[in-house]
Amino acid sequence: AEAPAAMAVPQAGQDNLVLLRRIGVVDPLSLDDYRAHGGYTALRRAFALGPAGVIREVTDSGLVGRGGAAFPTGRKWQATASQPDHPHYLVCNADESEPGTFKDRVVMEGDPYALVEAMTIAGYATGAHKGYLYLRGEYPRALDRLTHAIEQARARGLLGDDVLGQGYAFDIEIRRGAGAYICGEETALFNSIEGYRGEPRSKPPFPVEKGLFGKPTAENNVETLVNVLPILTMGAQAYAAIGTGRSTGPKLFCVSGSVDRPGIYELPFGATLGELLELAGVRERLRAVLLGGAAGGFVRPDELDIPLTFEGTREAGTTLGSGVVMAFDDTVPLPRLLLRIAEFFRDESCGQCVPCRVGTVRQEEALHRIAERTGAAAADDIALLREVGRAMRDASICGLGQTAWNAVESAIDRLGAYE
Ligand code: NAD
Ligand code: SF4
Repeated sequence: AEAPAAMAVPQAGQDNLVLLRRIGVVDPLSLDDYRAHGGYTALRRAFALGPAGVIREVTDSGLVGRGGAAFPTGRKWQATASQPDHPHYLVCNADESEPGTFKDRVVMEGDPYALVEAMTIAGYATGAHKGYLYLRGEYPRALDRLTHAIEQARARGLLGDDVLGQGYAFDIEIRRGAGAYICGEETALFNSIEGYRGEPRSKPPFPVEKGLFGKPTAENNVETLVNVLPILTMGAQAYAAIGTGRSTGPKLFCVSGSVDRPGIYELPFGATLGELLELAGVRERLRAVLLGGAAGGFVRPDELDIPLTFEGTREAGTTLGSGVVMAFDDTVPLPRLLLRIAEFFRDESCGQCVPCRVGTVRQEEALHRIAERTGAAAADDIALLREVGRAMRDASICGLGQTAWNAVESAIDRLGAYE
């Protein structure tokens, strides 16, 4: 855990990168060094454009959320900014907990001022004067570096009552999570900040209308926010020229498992899964790749030409999620892996709604039985898994229950896991 962030970034130091270009290069404890590497030019441009101008740039860039759901960021900001109710809040979701995801951690540890600057711009655009940064509890180094960055920014007039002398007040408070995966769901996260149990609320109303403390709230993932910096410095058009189709810009991918060089990779949207795995040094005898984490799905080694875009993965019947790519060679026991995923969802279900509370337990039990038996009994259990999986997907309140069967289903249907 004490390794520097750059170790998780095999591409560190490559100056053709957009999001990772400062990681491993800039001193994360120095505001002056951040400025020497282009820091705070985006905020100056934001003040020159005004809030509506910033939202226009973000909308024109085509930026969509990088937490996994790909909702258009400009639309979210516009919807928040236009609410008559006040105050407005900005919330940065840094509760990165999807198994296999560690991109936000690398950004926060390696380039903390970038997030502070991006949150200030997002607050300015959406009419918020207070930003909450909800940080995964297991990220102590990110906590130290962000706390330091916020203090330094405050001391130098980049946060506070009069940011950069522009008459705009904005400050950031860090709140730490306490180990619950569900608190990364935006409304459970609001409940956690408010001091309630971390249970999701029903949507609609969406947070843009009624979010934190019942007020209009723009909630964005760390990676989404830091993309706003290049959008403002290079301009929406140049940014939108990166990537492909409706997936514009650069994307961070978290590659782990049976590869020689695990870590965070930055590629433009549209590169193929095979190209990414090539960069990471994929091993021989690849058996499967899990895309999108535990909530995502498996693909086969003969499907590596899938383009890494939101629409491309959807067309291929899978999901990009937040950019998790876990490779497994044939030494990995698939039934054990599926059981581990099922245990995870059973553990992390908040228990508020029946399909998920009961369904995640039934799923784990059936997978246990299948692992122990073969033949007709296993066939019955696969039928049961399908029924329970459908109920969870159709009737759960939030994404956790709705996706808890995805990986198991794809392992059965695409990999023939129990044949
Ligand atoms: P969602 O599709 O319900 O919402 C996505 C975002 O768009 C939310 O902020 C929501 O408030 C907003 N939104 C949706 N419709 C809206 C509307 N009509 N008006 C205004 N705002 C609207 O998805 P979700 O449940 O928030 O997130 C699910 C995703 O989270 C999954 O794709 C999964 O990959 C990802 N995920 C990520 C992690 C991680 O660690 N990064 C962990 C778990 C899940
Ligand atoms: Fe809680 Fe699961 Fe229901 Fe989500 S789907 S509210 S995690 S019980």
